Amino acid sequence: MSLDLPTIGCRTTPVLKERGQREVFCGLTGIIWLHRKMQDAFFLVVGSRTCAHLLQAAAGVMIFAEPRFGTAILEEKDLAGLADANAELDREVARLLARRPDIKQLFLVGSCPSEVIKLDLARAAERLSSVHSPHVRVYNYSGSGIETTFTQGEDACLAAMVPTLPASTARELLVVGAMPDVVEDQCLSLLAQLGIGPVRMLPARRAGDLPAVGANTVFALVQPFLGDTHAALTRRGARHLPAPFPFGEEGTTAWLRAIAEEFGVPRDLFEQVTAAPRARALKAIATQSQELQGKSVFFFPDSQLEIPLARFLTRECGMTAVEVGTPYLHEGLVGPDLDLLPQGPVISEGQDVEKQLDRQRAAAPDLTVCGLGLANPLEAEGHTTKWAIELVFTPVHFYEQAGDLAGLFSRPLRRKAILRKEAA
Ligand code: SF4
Repeated sequence: MSLDLPTIGCRTTPVLKERGQREVFCGLTGIIWLHRKMQDAFFLVVGSRTCAHLLQAAAGVMIFAEPRFGTAILEEKDLAGLADANAELDREVARLLARRPDIKQLFLVGSCPSEVIKLDLARAAERLSSVHSPHVRVYNYSGSGIETTFTQGEDACLAAMVPTLPASTARELLVVGAMPDVVEDQCLSLLAQLGIGPVRMLPARRAGDLPAVGANTVFALVQPFLGDTHAALTRRGARHLPAPFPFGEEGTTAWLRAIAEEFGVPRDLFEQVTAAPRARALKAIATQSQELQGKSVFFFPDSQLEIPLARFLTRECGMTAVEVGTPYLHEGLVGPDLDLLPQGPVISEGQDVEKQLDRQRAAAPDLTVCGLGLANPLEAEGHTTKWAIELVFTPVHFYEQAGDLAGLFSRPLRRKAILRKEAA
């Protein structure tokens, strides 16, 4: 099988770059899926009451007997109070770790309040790591809304871990990006059937399973928002395998093929392993995408998944993309998806929300993919929207989820059609 490339893809399309008011969540949101993935990690947000509220709201109704994230609330402090703040942080961490011997990795997560920015969390992580090692490793990263969009929290977290990974000379595949365990198992099973292994994962489920890296490591990303992690791994000598992201039948096949070619998997074995799951994925997409055929879609920048998803919706679900907005466009990561995305849509990077809303209203697309902050007002104006944040909380990668991925987009259109019928 070869990829059916459009005559002209979007890699060379001029990008509309905008810098203005943005409507996005902050990087603390990533803690919600990361703490589920890393089963012996604790995320301690050093922040304000707002951060604590955001975490509570994002965590929704999940009540844990022993939660694995919390907020150390810093009240207004002058510079003279910073020594106290450091001592307070050390005390809180010592208390937490004494009570929770199950914690093996502790992440100090920075936020936006100015008193947090004044605290040197990198130094605090170093200090605390030396106090609590070898039992616990302490890392730090920023989830601040000033610096990050909501998926960058995961990128910052993984990038913080890379310099501490042990060195290795083994020729191994490293799969990078958090996926629900069930999806990760499907990915590992496909790779094992192709004869590829051992395969390492970042993040790993437990600290003891963290991968080693070096010049013979080749890595494949499963999330397009991992630019800093990509750079950190490259600095360790690892080599990136560029490929479309594993969304939909085509994306998954292309992603697996890039790995199979790198590891010299015979063509017939590849066809044999992928034939049945590909057929299942195509059937599921055909069922779920009926409402999407011939419809138009407009992406506001939010999750950084926009370009691979636009590729999936246009090529596998029969939609037309009007505008594909993304917070950051990293060509090294999404270039292969841009090659496949047929020319036509405006490709925009960054945001000037009022101007973009004007373009969206003028285009009146059938479906608008956006953040929560824009979805409600747009729905009130009669537009059909899909919340981008759902895409990172729902299993959407690889063959078995391809139908569900199409279903996430067709559901709002179906609901709107039912409401229209009832109102008529
Ligand atoms: Fe905390 Fe800043 Fe996120 Fe608000 S935007 S919750 S202050 S990190």
